[in-house]
Amino acid sequence: MAGVNITLLAGGVGGAKAAEGLAFGHYAQGVKVIGNVADDDEFHGLWVSPDIDTLIYSLGDQIDRQQGWGRKGESHQTLKELAALGQDTWMTLGDLDLATHIYRTQQRKQGVSMSDITQGLATRHGVNLPILLPTDDMVQTRVKTPTGWLSFQEFFVREHCQPDVIEVAYQGADQATPNAAALAQLSTSDLIVIAPSNPVVSIGAILAIPDIRQAVIDSAAYVVAVSPLIGGKTVKGPADKMLASEGKSVDSKGIYDSYQGFIDGMVIDPQDAQEADWLLAQGVDVLVTPTLMKERDDKVSLLDQVVAFALDKQAMRAA
Ligand code: GDP
Ligand code: CA
Repeated sequence: MAGVNITLLAGGVGGAKAAEGLAFGHYAQGVKVIGNVADDDEFHGLWVSPDIDTLIYSLGDQIDRQQGWGRKGESHQTLKELAALGQDTWMTLGDLDLATHIYRTQQRKQGVSMSDITQGLATRHGVNLPILLPTDDMVQTRVKTPTGWLSFQEFFVREHCQPDVIEVAYQGADQATPNAAALAQLSTSDLIVIAPSNPVVSIGAILAIPDIRQAVIDSAAYVVAVSPLIGGKTVKGPADKMLASEGKSVDSKGIYDSYQGFIDGMVIDPQDAQEADWLLAQGVDVLVTPTLMKERDDKVSLLDQVVAFALDKQAMRAA
């Protein structure tokens, strides 16, 4: 069915997999993505927006499929030269990727909004669905560890997620002006799909902007989340220790708790099927289906199932 108005809330790798599943699936026509800008940071004077670029490169089929991030066919000459100049090069930025960051930084200097810059990059890469930003303002995730506060990239890339996580904060979120396009999209959605992204730093950072969270809560849309956990473990990344830092369990309950107050349905893997009864008892609809996405077919198949499930449950609730 075409024309279902769907919003996908998405982080980086898990978010981009879901975005591809929707973009190339049965319901592609009505889909818009709201991405995460809170992993953004400055390197070598350039503004880097990792999650947004992962979305753009994935949807434009320019992503390094092995890594799940960065450009395919990438080289690292510039970074080697920067290292030779004594610069910190723990943030891997390839030569092709650097062009994106140069463009973004240059446009920002000229006063172009982050939303319009994203649009420019999406157009260049042939992305076939709109990528909206929750805000054009700066929001930055900070991670408190036993040795102090780190920027998100310091924690994630430089420290390889090794330090214990005491607390996660979203600097600037409270003051950020939400984008009207994102608010309008949320309020007119039939369906809000939460990608199997990190609920704390990817989805949590989007929802840390008060009016964005409120728009999700107020929306008449059916809200369905795909769990980023399979067999009680993350496929990749620090979602487990971040959930624990918030006192949440590393299972479907912890994901539910992250989205409590607006979640209508959850999609969990057969490896977590024993958690379905607990979710059902909370009044949440549950779809149990394999959620590991490797190839594009897996992504399309899963997201088509997720949307069909949500529309079905929404219709049953309305009846
Ligand atoms: P990041 O911004 O690149 O860290 O990516 P996201 O926040 O969008 O997604 C990270 C989460 O995606 C991790 O918690 C993973 O467990 C989850 N994830 C990655 N691939 C898959 C997948 O194929 N299936 C499911 N269910 N989760 C996945
Ligand atoms: Ca991210």
